[in-house]
Amino acid sequence: MTSSNERPSFAHRFARSLLGKPEVSIPDTTIQSAKVLMKDLTAIPEADWWKYAFSREPMNGRFTDTQRRDMYEKAMICGHKKAEECLAAYGNISPEQLARIMGMDVRFPHMPQSRSRILFAEFKEPDTIYVYQDGIEKGEALFSEKGVYEVLPEPIDLAQILIAHELFHVCELKDPTLWTKTYTVELWKLGWFVNRSPVAVLSEIAAMAFASRLNGLSFSAYVLDAFLAFGYSPIAGSALYDEMMQAAGRKPSLPDWKS
Ligand SMILES: [Zn+2]
Repeated sequence: MTSSNERPSFAHRFARSLLGKPEVSIPDTTIQSAKVLMKDLTAIPEADWWKYAFSREPMNGRFTDTQRRDMYEKAMICGHKKAEECLAAYGNISPEQLARIMGMDVRFPHMPQSRSRILFAEFKEPDTIYVYQDGIEKGEALFSEKGVYEVLPEPIDLAQILIAHELFHVCELKDPTLWTKTYTVELWKLGWFVNRSPVAVLSEIAAMAFASRLNGLSFSAYVLDAFLAFGYSPIAGSALYDEMMQAAGRKPSLPDWKS
């Protein structure tokens, strides 16, 4: 929370909008290097992202850690399974090729039409996936920094990971029997009347797991949240890095210039 007479700078307001969490205190963040960020975040096992993932769920406060972990695992398995099915059906093709086979139009505009917030990619029903070049270019520019690409466990293609994530949402639209579309939790009960609701973040978790598996990654595609944000604002990327490390029960590294 900021007090009413405190006016955050544009950079800080911009950075906060990238985090998806306006209450995060940006000035407390120490700026990392892109290399440390990638090295540490790609080392987090995919199963350990549950706490970070659920921090973006509007109903997060209703769940216990046991429930969060359990739902995360089921959503992750759902994403992996769907990716395995695609790989078995179409072989080793790129997510972009797969999207086109599935009837999608994949477009690469520079930026979203509405610039009210930073967006890296989106699926617009019924059949268009947009990947915004501005974010990709900023991410790729980070790869030219010394040692950044070298710390990756395997080579990555930013655009293909983003396409794969959106492609999972296409699968959800085409197949409403997918677990993420059918799973609901009980909100309240009144006599015989039970009100149930889907859990929005499960789609995101499954889409990330789908993107990781389809791209042959040994780490979670959630890493890109921090990396692509870093391309726009090192302070926002570093704040996400700290949050992700802590959520995974790990100690953030000291920045290069302090160690
Ligand atoms: Zn998504």
